Amino acid sequence: MEWTCLQDSCITSAVLKNSNSLGFARGEAWSPGISTSSDSFKELCYSRKSHFISNSDPINSTSLLSSNEYPSSEAAICVGITGKISITRDSACTVTAHSRGDISFLLDRAMAGDTLLEEEIVQLFSCMGEEFEQICRAADQLRTTVNGNKVTYVINRNINYTNVCSYKCQFCAFSKGKFTDTLRGKPYLLPLEEIARRAYEAWDRGATEICMQGGIHPEFTGETYLNILCCVKSAVPDVHVHAFSPLEVWQGAKTLGLSIYDYLLELRKAGLGSIPGTAAEILDDRIRDVLCPDKLTTQEWLEVMQTAHSIGLKSTSTIMFGHLDSPHHWAKHLLHLRSLQRETGGFTEFVPLPFIHMEAPLFLKGKARRGPTRRECLLMHAIARLVLHPYITNIQASWVKMGPSGAQALLFAGCNDMGGTLMNESITRAAGASHGEELPPLQMEALIRSIGRDPEQRTTLYSAASPEQVKKSFAAGPLQILKYMPTTG
Ligand code: SF4
Repeated sequence: MEWTCLQDSCITSAVLKNSNSLGFARGEAWSPGISTSSDSFKELCYSRKSHFISNSDPINSTSLLSSNEYPSSEAAICVGITGKISITRDSACTVTAHSRGDISFLLDRAMAGDTLLEEEIVQLFSCMGEEFEQICRAADQLRTTVNGNKVTYVINRNINYTNVCSYKCQFCAFSKGKFTDTLRGKPYLLPLEEIARRAYEAWDRGATEICMQGGIHPEFTGETYLNILCCVKSAVPDVHVHAFSPLEVWQGAKTLGLSIYDYLLELRKAGLGSIPGTAAEILDDRIRDVLCPDKLTTQEWLEVMQTAHSIGLKSTSTIMFGHLDSPHHWAKHLLHLRSLQRETGGFTEFVPLPFIHMEAPLFLKGKARRGPTRRECLLMHAIARLVLHPYITNIQASWVKMGPSGAQALLFAGCNDMGGTLMNESITRAAGASHGEELPPLQMEALIRSIGRDPEQRTTLYSAASPEQVKKSFAAGPLQILKYMPTTG
């Protein structure tokens, strides 16, 4: 039942800052990207680790995570996509009213590989307390069945060749106007020699993957991406190049007057190994119209991925959540991915990316939440494990966004992969996160072993990394200090 509607920017901003995706009070200071001295994820990890080792009951110690978000009243305050505030009774709160029997039935069906309905997925995203625990346990159990005790990671380097971008995504703190010197440093455009140098240095430090993405520079054409690719493959022929978001592929094809299919064939011929599943944000056009109005539509993003998969180029898949979205959008997003994966089998993994709010224009304008809560982060990974089963078998925890102990906690909520060591992460740091630029293999493996799991270095496509590269990765010296070149274009 809706009580009243308001439209006031000050109230909207205050409500968004202090509420979760259901319109209840957040009840915690934590946001993705923030490291705190009293890290309650640690408690969660260690209690779950002791559960694994001693079989003690982890529920009491983990319930603090969900109890923070119990509704303290019967009303929820929700902000719609247009900024309209509605104070509702019952409708948002019905999330607590379903019986435990319902959720067990849903979990059993998901674990058996059935497709859940959108409303059923929404119901899972709304769970708190014991039901929240039940979902995490089911996801963990499913992960053990599918992936065993192994936790994989890849030695890679991020090369973001330019931060100059003509797009205006409202969550992005990375891009800069061509001649502006704002927030975090100058606009830059890396010369090809510097890209090649970084790729070679990464290979020499044990990397098997070079991950490349950048802003949509107004002077870039499809030829630019092909040149970047050739320069990396000439410097390091055996490295796997995981590069060019669907937006860059779209842009590249358009500027050359080619179809997506023909341009992807050109990229593959030039040595492209796979495509990052970025630019997906939320696959719902009503959200995209506010979040990234000039970007690809949902259908266009899916079309690039479908075409890439059809010519044998694998890709990852992502979601960027916790801004102005709701469980309904998350459910739709997961169902889009499940459906495409069932058709093509081309996604190697799913990577939830919690929204980092600190420097995001949308948050600074008072129009977004402070990223997802810890409960929402854990649920996103756990529910993805269940909903995407059996088609997507790898669920990745992002240590850059969640912090090392947050990522460990996710390994008990359906995740089996820790992503890349990165070497030079810069996009998430530009958004205000403080979890560092590189997690070297020694630290990565210590982190994984400390919760009783077995680390393994993998390639981008989830086979074992070669012994030579593994050896180099453990013996790697420090990286050369980077110099960003100011834009010349
Ligand atoms: S997310 Fe990508 S396309 Fe959007 S503004 Fe940032 S760099 Fe540009």
